Amino acid sequence: MLKNWIVVPTCLPLVRRRCHACGSERFRASGKFRVNANHKLIDAWLLALCTACGDTAKLTVLERMTVRSIRPELLDRLHDNDPGLTAELLQDPVVQFRNRIALDWDNAWRLDTGGSDHLDREVIDVAVRFAARIPVRPARLIAEGCGLSRAEVERLIAEGKVVSAVRLSGKLSGDFTFTLKR
Ligand SMILES: [Zn+2]
Repeated sequence: MLKNWIVVPTCLPLVRRRCHACGSERFRASGKFRVNANHKLIDAWLLALCTACGDTAKLTVLERMTVRSIRPELLDRLHDNDPGLTAELLQDPVVQFRNRIALDWDNAWRLDTGGSDHLDREVIDVAVRFAARIPVRPARLIAEGCGLSRAEVERLIAEGKVVSAVRLSGKLSGDFTFTLKR
Protein backbone atom coordinates (compact mmCIF):
# COMPACT_ATOMS: atom_id res chain seq x y z
CA MET A 1 0.00 0.00 0.00
CA LEU A 2 1.40 3.39 -1.00
CA LYS A 3 0.73 6.38 1.20
CA ASN A 4 1.50 10.03 0.57
CA TRP A 5 2.36 12.06 3.62
CA ILE A 6 2.99 15.75 3.61
CA VAL A 7 4.80 17.98 6.08
CA VAL A 8 3.02 21.34 6.06
CA PRO A 9 3.73 24.62 7.85
CA THR A 10 0.97 25.68 10.25
CA CYS A 11 2.38 29.12 10.99
CA LEU A 12 5.50 31.16 10.36
CA PRO A 13 8.72 29.79 11.87
CA LEU A 14 10.53 31.83 14.50
CA VAL A 15 13.76 33.59 13.57
CA ARG A 16 16.90 32.56 15.43
CA ARG A 17 18.87 35.68 16.11
CA ARG A 18 20.36 37.19 19.22
CA CYS A 19 18.53 40.18 20.67
CA HIS A 20 20.84 43.14 21.35
CA ALA A 21 18.52 44.37 24.09
CA CYS A 22 17.92 41.27 26.21
CA GLY A 23 20.07 38.44 24.83
CA SER A 24 17.10 36.22 23.92
CA GLU A 25 17.54 34.23 20.69
CA ARG A 26 14.10 34.15 19.07
CA PHE A 27 12.30 36.75 17.00
CA ARG A 28 8.82 36.63 15.53
CA ALA A 29 8.20 38.18 12.11
CA SER A 30 5.93 41.19 12.59
CA GLY A 31 4.36 40.84 9.16
CA LYS A 32 5.37 44.42 8.39
CA PHE A 33 7.97 45.78 6.01
CA ARG A 34 9.72 49.11 5.97
CA VAL A 35 10.67 50.57 2.62
CA ASN A 36 12.99 53.55 2.35
CA ALA A 37 13.54 55.32 -0.96
CA ASN A 38 16.49 57.66 -1.16
CA HIS A 39 16.86 59.33 -4.54
CA LYS A 40 16.68 56.36 -6.88
CA LEU A 41 17.90 53.78 -4.39
CA ILE A 42 15.63 51.58 -2.34
CA ASP A 43 16.19 49.74 0.93
CA ALA A 44 13.63 47.37 2.38
CA TRP A 45 13.49 45.50 5.66
CA LEU A 46 11.32 42.85 7.19
CA LEU A 47 10.58 43.85 10.78
CA ALA A 48 10.83 41.20 13.49
CA LEU A 49 10.08 41.45 17.20
CA CYS A 50 12.02 39.81 20.02
CA THR A 51 9.77 37.15 21.60
CA ALA A 52 11.10 38.07 25.07
CA CYS A 53 11.28 41.88 25.16
CA GLY A 54 9.56 43.04 21.98
CA ASP A 55 12.62 44.87 20.66
CA THR A 56 12.50 45.35 16.89
CA ALA A 57 15.10 43.92 14.50
CA LYS A 58 15.30 44.91 10.87
CA LEU A 59 16.07 42.06 8.49
CA THR A 60 17.46 43.36 5.23
CA VAL A 61 15.44 42.41 2.16
CA LEU A 62 16.73 44.94 -0.38
CA GLU A 63 19.89 46.97 0.02
CA ARG A 64 20.51 50.07 -2.09
CA MET A 65 18.77 48.68 -5.14
CA THR A 66 17.86 50.91 -8.05
CA VAL A 67 14.13 51.23 -8.55
CA ARG A 68 14.40 49.95 -12.09
CA SER A 69 16.08 46.74 -11.00
CA ILE A 70 13.20 45.75 -8.71
CA ARG A 71 10.14 43.97 -10.03
CA PRO A 72 7.13 46.32 -9.56
CA GLU A 73 5.15 43.38 -8.21
CA LEU A 74 7.68 42.95 -5.38
CA LEU A 75 7.46 46.63 -4.45
CA ASP A 76 3.67 46.40 -4.34
CA ARG A 77 3.84 43.40 -2.04
CA LEU A 78 6.33 45.17 0.25
CA HIS A 79 4.11 48.25 0.47
CA ASP A 80 1.05 46.06 1.11
CA ASN A 81 2.79 44.06 3.89
CA ASP A 82 1.87 40.90 1.95
CA PRO A 83 1.76 38.00 4.48
CA GLY A 84 2.83 35.46 1.85
CA LEU A 85 5.90 37.54 1.11
CA THR A 86 7.01 37.31 4.75
CA ALA A 87 6.88 33.50 4.53
CA GLU A 88 8.77 33.49 1.22
CA LEU A 89 11.50 35.85 2.38
CA LEU A 90 12.08 34.07 5.70
CA GLN A 91 12.73 30.87 3.75
CA ASP A 92 14.91 32.56 1.13
CA PRO A 93 18.52 31.34 1.56
CA VAL A 94 19.83 34.72 0.34
CA VAL A 95 17.87 36.57 3.03
CA GLN A 96 18.95 34.06 5.66
CA PHE A 97 22.60 34.37 4.70
CA ARG A 98 22.58 38.16 4.43
CA ASN A 99 21.02 38.55 7.88
CA ARG A 100 22.85 35.61 9.47
CA ILE A 101 19.60 34.08 10.65
CA ALA A 102 18.25 30.56 10.80
CA LEU A 103 14.68 29.43 11.33
CA ASP A 104 13.12 27.63 14.28
CA TRP A 105 10.28 25.41 13.01
CA ASP A 106 9.36 23.91 16.40
CA ASN A 107 5.56 23.80 16.74
CA ALA A 108 5.18 25.46 13.33
CA TRP A 109 4.33 22.39 11.23
CA ARG A 110 2.17 19.29 11.19
CA LEU A 111 2.20 15.94 9.43
CA ASP A 112 -0.77 15.19 7.19
CA THR A 113 -1.07 11.42 6.61
CA GLY A 114 -4.35 11.52 4.70
CA GLY A 115 -6.14 9.12 7.03
CA SER A 116 -5.29 6.16 9.25
CA ASP A 117 -6.10 3.22 6.95
CA HIS A 118 -2.39 2.26 6.89
CA LEU A 119 -2.08 1.68 10.62
CA ASP A 120 -2.98 -2.03 10.59
CA ARG A 121 -1.01 -2.96 7.45
CA GLU A 122 2.05 -5.16 7.74
CA VAL A 123 3.88 -3.40 4.93
CA ILE A 124 3.48 0.19 3.86
CA ASP A 125 5.36 2.34 1.36
CA VAL A 126 5.28 6.00 2.19
CA ALA A 127 6.28 9.00 0.08
CA VAL A 128 6.92 11.99 2.33
CA ARG A 129 6.73 15.40 0.73
CA PHE A 130 7.76 18.69 2.36
CA ALA A 131 5.62 21.73 1.54
CA ALA A 132 8.46 23.86 2.94
CA ARG A 133 12.06 23.07 3.81
CA ILE A 134 11.32 22.16 7.43
CA PRO A 135 14.11 20.13 9.10
CA VAL A 136 12.52 17.16 10.86
CA ARG A 137 13.83 13.84 12.16
CA PRO A 138 12.47 11.01 9.96
CA ALA A 139 12.09 8.77 13.05
CA ARG A 140 9.81 11.40 14.57
CA LEU A 141 7.69 11.60 11.41
CA ILE A 142 7.42 7.82 11.16
CA ALA A 143 6.51 7.55 14.84
CA GLU A 144 3.83 10.21 14.55
CA GLY A 145 2.46 8.93 11.24
CA CYS A 146 2.32 5.29 12.33
CA GLY A 147 1.19 5.83 15.90
CA LEU A 148 4.40 4.37 17.31
CA SER A 149 6.79 5.63 19.97
CA ARG A 150 10.14 7.06 18.93
CA ALA A 151 11.85 4.13 20.67
CA GLU A 152 9.78 1.62 18.67
CA VAL A 153 10.70 3.35 15.42
CA GLU A 154 14.40 3.46 16.38
CA ARG A 155 14.20 -0.29 17.08
CA LEU A 156 12.49 -1.00 13.71
CA ILE A 157 15.19 1.05 11.95
CA ALA A 158 17.95 -0.83 13.81
CA GLU A 159 16.33 -4.17 12.85
CA GLY A 160 16.22 -3.17 9.18
CA LYS A 161 12.43 -3.07 9.11
CA VAL A 162 12.37 0.52 7.92
CA VAL A 163 14.10 0.81 4.57
CA SER A 164 14.91 4.04 2.75
CA ALA A 165 17.39 5.38 0.23
CA VAL A 166 18.10 8.28 2.61
CA ARG A 167 19.80 8.22 6.00
CA LEU A 168 17.12 8.02 8.66
CA SER A 169 19.29 9.41 11.43
CA GLY A 170 19.72 13.17 11.68
CA LYS A 171 17.26 15.59 10.14
CA LEU A 172 15.77 15.84 6.66
CA SER A 173 14.00 18.71 4.97
CA GLY A 174 13.55 17.25 1.50
CA ASP A 175 11.19 14.65 0.05
CA PHE A 176 11.96 10.99 0.72
CA THR A 177 10.33 7.58 0.66
CA PHE A 178 10.51 4.64 3.03
CA THR A 179 9.09 1.14 3.46
CA LEU A 180 7.99 -0.12 6.85
CA LYS A 181 7.57 -3.85 7.54
CA ARG A 182 6.20 -4.96 10.87
ZN1 LIG B 1 14.90 40.99 23.46
